[in-house]
Amino acid sequence: MILVTGGAGFIGTNFVLDWIASVGEPVLNLDKLTYAGNLENLASLAGDARHRFVQGDIGDTALVGRLLAENEVRAVVNFAAESHVDRSIHGPAAFVETNVVGTFGLLEAVRAYWGALPAERKSAFRFLHVSTDEVYGSLDAQAPAFTEQHRYEPNSPYSASKAASDHLVRAYHHTYGLPVVTTNCSNNYGPFHFPEKLIPLMIVNALAGKPLPVYGDGQQVRDWLYVGDHCSAIRRVLEAGQLGETYNVGGWNEKPNLEIVRTVCALLDEKRPRVDGKSYAEQIAYVTDRPGHDRRYAIDARKIERELGWKPAETFDTGIRKTVEWYLDHADWVARVQSGAYREWLSTNYGERESA
Ligand code: NAD
Repeated sequence: MILVTGGAGFIGTNFVLDWIASVGEPVLNLDKLTYAGNLENLASLAGDARHRFVQGDIGDTALVGRLLAENEVRAVVNFAAESHVDRSIHGPAAFVETNVVGTFGLLEAVRAYWGALPAERKSAFRFLHVSTDEVYGSLDAQAPAFTEQHRYEPNSPYSASKAASDHLVRAYHHTYGLPVVTTNCSNNYGPFHFPEKLIPLMIVNALAGKPLPVYGDGQQVRDWLYVGDHCSAIRRVLEAGQLGETYNVGGWNEKPNLEIVRTVCALLDEKRPRVDGKSYAEQIAYVTDRPGHDRRYAIDARKIERELGWKPAETFDTGIRKTVEWYLDHADWVARVQSGAYREWLSTNYGERESA
């Protein structure tokens, strides 16, 4: 069995569904169910013995230790985090609490468990820490993309807290020999993305006839990767990554935010035209830029491609089309997230739920 933390969030949900469909090995899913955790995403697994859900905090070392031992866990994939940059600007404390202190608590539990394993299971054990390209800071327009050697220069409380967690993971390898691997991935998009993030927010606001808020001049550049490709990269690193190494994961899709918004508008124009015949792009509204907004992130993913043979399956064109179609087909999911009804669903409908 593997332990997935944060498996009710955006990427965690996609990972758990992909893992059970493609690998089939049971998953123990530990998630605190903050506002970002939505068990309804995993409704298709209700009653499936290969998915066991526990509501709890990664920082609860005693709980994690008990779960690892009871379930004879062979690997941990750590997605659990506070993940929204804007929220980190308004309330950084939760980011330090989960991303730094929580990761520390998790590492302590894993270290104790791993240290007591018999030799064969000990050498096969893996801890995969999922991180972000934002730890590297901002790039100038012409600068080469981030390699794994790029120095850490986090600029937001979110990226600083993730950088701290990456350093703790690294230190547990160097100091205690814990078998870790870390992935630093660019911006993900795809199904189950909470509608506070750029792409789902634009789809949802466009369809609701609301303004499409674009920060500053909209020329902030990000690399975009379809979430299913991030999941396949994590599976590959878990399987074949070198211990103590980090792997950058990206889609070679550098795009300014404004172009992303215009692409979403064009797809909606095609698939769900506005009743007045105008483009959804008419709804774009420029708003004051985010403080300290990084100008550009770009990922050099050659190491994972060369050493582990991983490549994304989706281009941006195919991935964004799938994503827009998913949101058009899942208006009920969006409505339940927006109304908060998804939070009631988990307490009434999820038979396997277990509170810690
Ligand atoms: P998310 O906010 O959608 O999900 C986070 C999940 O973690 C939620 O289900 C939440 O309930 C859970 N959680 C939060 N605090 C917890 C705690 N203390 N204990 C247990 N569970 C807790 O985030 P996401 O977008 O799915 O990101 C997952 C991971 O991937 C994060 O570590 C993030 O830094 C990293 N990442 C995200 C992106 C991206 O574009 N979304 C890109 C690169 C890396």
